[in-house]
Amino acid sequence: MEIVKTKSELKEKLSACRRRHQSIGLVPTMGALHAGHISLVSRCVAENDICVVSVFVNPTQFNDKSDLVAYPRTPEKDAAMLEKAGCSYVFMPEVEEMYPQPDTRQFHFGALEQVMEGPYRPGHFNGVAQIVSKLFYAVEPDRAYFGEKDFQQIAIIRSMVAQLQLPLEIIACPIVREADGLAMSSRNQRLSPEERKKAVLISRYLSESRTFAAENSLAATKAFVEQKIGSEPLFRLDYYEIVDGRTLQPLKSWDDSDYVVGCIAVYCGPVRLIDNIIYKSCK
Ligand code: AMP
Repeated sequence: MEIVKTKSELKEKLSACRRRHQSIGLVPTMGALHAGHISLVSRCVAENDICVVSVFVNPTQFNDKSDLVAYPRTPEKDAAMLEKAGCSYVFMPEVEEMYPQPDTRQFHFGALEQVMEGPYRPGHFNGVAQIVSKLFYAVEPDRAYFGEKDFQQIAIIRSMVAQLQLPLEIIACPIVREADGLAMSSRNQRLSPEERKKAVLISRYLSESRTFAAENSLAATKAFVEQKIGSEPLFRLDYYEIVDGRTLQPLKSWDDSDYVVGCIAVYCGPVRLIDNIIYKSCK
């Protein structure tokens, strides 16, 4: 495994791979890696000749600057985990390398960005599109891997790829959870022991809601989760939405779609956590 700091060095190495007709997979991350990230890397390694993992805390996607400052950074540990997972190249650029000048591009995602994370994190998806498009231009991967934990992000990336007509495949990978059910996240490190104990309730209530959903309406199921989360003093709910898995638009009835997903964002103490549950899958 090699650690690469610049786009030009990366391009040089990858053109040599391409000349050898090797397929290239990319896993974009912000580091502070855990088993969730590694599941994407393992799949990328299995499905491509070359696996590139980017580790870059992207400033333009942080609408909350204190979140950017507090974001965990563990580059040495990340490199060791990636080497073990079979990664070929780690791309760890400095901010100036990715933003030699301010990125003034404005992406538009229509209804996809007007729901859920959109109103709570203004500018977030534009920043995600800026960095992911730059990574796609730098790596020119055949496939790129993203986690369903960030459910809305995958829809946004698919839309960006379609808008820019980029020739690559987006692969969505399932959520990896801690033994007790909490969705793995780099932000979990910031939970106090008391908050960490409570945080498990997010996945537990989502899972209970699937049983509840079998005999209740969509509106009642939404209210079930809102009420459970609302009754915990350590939690502050941003939203719980039950949406169509493709359009991300809120649904009124279980029969309105063959792909139904419940997405939640909730503060546990000072840490904002997201999770989701698939009620109905077309797959
Ligand atoms: P991040 O470093 O948080 O930007 O995440 C990098 C990639 O890893 C994104 O595609 C995430 O959706 C994915 N990811 C993060 N946590 C998990 C998880 N618990 N399970 C599966 N994928 C994840």
